[in-house]
Amino acid sequence: MNMISEYFGSMVFNDKVMKEKLPPQIYASLKKTIDEGADLDTEVANAVAEAMKNWALEHGATHYTHWFQPLTGITAEKHESFIAPAPDGGVIMEFSGKALIKGEPDASSFPSGGLRATFEARGYTAWDPTSYAFIKDNTLCIPTAFCSYGGEALDKKTPLLRSMQAIDKQAMRILRLFGHKNVKCVRASSGPEQEYFLVDKRMFDRRRDLVFCGRTLFGAKPPKGQEMDDHYYGVINPRVAAFMADLNEELWKLGVLAKTEHNEVAPAQHELAPIFNVVNLATDHNQLTMEIMQKVASRHGLVCLLHEKPFAGVNGSGKHNNWSIDTDTGIKLLKPGDTPYENAQFLLFLCAVIQAVDEYQDLLRLSVATAGNDHRLGANEAPPAVISIFLGDELTAVLDAIEHETPYNSAEKSQMALGVHVLPKFNRDTTDRNRTSPFAFTGNRFEFRMLGSSNSIACANIMTNAAVADVLRRYADRLEKADHFDGELHALLRESIREHKRIIFNGNGYDDAWIKEATEQRGLHNLRTTPDAMPHLLDKKNVDMLTSLGVFSEAELRSRYEIMLENYCKTVNIEALTMADMARKEILPAVEAYARDLANTVAAKKAVSETIACRYETKTVERLSELADGIDRAAGELEDAMLRYRELAADVTAASCMIRDVILPKMGDLRVVCDEAEVITAKKYWPFPTYSDLLFGVR
Ligand code: ADP
Ligand code: MG
Repeated sequence: MNMISEYFGSMVFNDKVMKEKLPPQIYASLKKTIDEGADLDTEVANAVAEAMKNWALEHGATHYTHWFQPLTGITAEKHESFIAPAPDGGVIMEFSGKALIKGEPDASSFPSGGLRATFEARGYTAWDPTSYAFIKDNTLCIPTAFCSYGGEALDKKTPLLRSMQAIDKQAMRILRLFGHKNVKCVRASSGPEQEYFLVDKRMFDRRRDLVFCGRTLFGAKPPKGQEMDDHYYGVINPRVAAFMADLNEELWKLGVLAKTEHNEVAPAQHELAPIFNVVNLATDHNQLTMEIMQKVASRHGLVCLLHEKPFAGVNGSGKHNNWSIDTDTGIKLLKPGDTPYENAQFLLFLCAVIQAVDEYQDLLRLSVATAGNDHRLGANEAPPAVISIFLGDELTAVLDAIEHETPYNSAEKSQMALGVHVLPKFNRDTTDRNRTSPFAFTGNRFEFRMLGSSNSIACANIMTNAAVADVLRRYADRLEKADHFDGELHALLRESIREHKRIIFNGNGYDDAWIKEATEQRGLHNLRTTPDAMPHLLDKKNVDMLTSLGVFSEAELRSRYEIMLENYCKTVNIEALTMADMARKEILPAVEAYARDLANTVAAKKAVSETIACRYETKTVERLSELADGIDRAAGELEDAMLRYRELAADVTAASCMIRDVILPKMGDLRVVCDEAEVITAKKYWPFPTYSDLLFGVR
């Protein structure tokens, strides 16, 4: 008996269940809605709701909720029980089509970035039938989009769905030009590799920085870090293995295709990768994965840290977004083909992605911008903040040959002509392994490596879909008018390569020389921080592109600008307050206690004999006193800066710049003195678990 295949998806109202539970004509119209976006009439909605409710009750559910993704970055749910009063004083279980299709949560406590001022406080959630309902914690969860009453998106799903439509529409125009008749739609897919840390819950609870901020704000470097490279792909310890087994089971029940798991580079760091899926589902599933990871960890006495940089000095956690586009008929648009004709089509889509990444570097960068991820990008394990594309030498040479109309390689004396020549067979192994590239071609997809581990993948996929859709739109506009398709395509690709090849870089992305070349010679953006990146959201070229494709309205973009920067400011504000507080209430008293005990030792020794020198104690007490003064001074400066920051807080742009320029450096100063004090303070005085405890404490 294959257990997994029996319980896989058992908590999901999926196609199999629908087919089984719905009358055939109801199933047929629901399918039409799911596949083609047709409207759902009340009768069908009622029938679906009834079947869903009965199925949910059979599986122990008592409540239902519209499950949505507000701009807080996590998911939201408000549970309603199924009960309704019966005339006899008892209850019946009720769930209508109306309740399935639309909910009306109070939107006033979700971030709206100013949209609420102009629209009503209420919002509504609308069922997204393309993502299956599921049961979690005895609650039927219905994936929904979340909008204001004016129809403005207040969530991440709505623009994601719109961006999927945009790329579908534009890619279909191209495919029609290549003569595809049977293709009904083009879908963008994502396989997000999720990194995370596991720490012991008892230790976690004793660190208020972890509890409040999800990352350590203090911590001297442990004697052992990741320098031995002995954790990556290492044997998984039994406690972590038990966590992973439990996690997989929970995810499989929810239909999440959890596939790969392994230890990552840093001690206590791990990764989970699912099998890729249509981006809308991949996003829902990744949100669920992050939630279930935390829940399962706590059952094992662990805490799952999803922060991008929980520990200074060891690798942070990212999320690699493997992105591809394919047709409903199974054609992979980013896979080199076997015939000249397939190659021309592949090269068109390849060039479209290259051009999109070059033209919209800023949007891709800001789609992953958060306070947490700023610590990672630019540090030496993550891609730098400069966006470039790794193509591999062979494909780069092919593009070069097209651009210059020269032979692809000297052995073959023929020219690369589109639609005439077969592309050389690529050696797949060589296409992948550049781990330093932010945007790498990996044979049949691109891997965008800049996402932070706690980010929703929605934003990065919205921007990728939209940017590529925009380029495809311009390609289609031009090619549809062309008299000679092949010639025009060839000219178009040559132009595109010439103008956008500056974004292609196959070397080491961590190298300082590259950053210099990228910014000084190639004119690429280096948007190091969130306040550097975010203003580009409102650049005219970006607003024009996103609004003309119908992915965002201008008001939505303005609101997102506010919210992203507000989140940045709030995050660092909490960190700064936590830091000052821990420094004063925990670290200073510990340092003083140790100094006092040492001083008492000196007094005791001197009482025995005045001639005992007590050099060690005296020197240490002196250094501890200096450090205590330093801690007090640095904490005071941070507190003063926070007071000045508070006066600015209404102007989110100015506030975010002050955080970047003043608050974060002052936090850095405070940390330096505290970490130095940790190094010379006896272990039993230190008020919370150290890096060694945390990183090597899961046993
Ligand atoms: P690696 O760590 O070597 O990059 P992983 O196996 O950890 O590889 O993750 C690769 C991810 O890419 C998986 O989630 C996988 O499902 C996904 N993937 C594979 N093919 C595609 C594709 N065509 N489109 C999108 N994602 C893909
Ligand atoms: Mg991996």
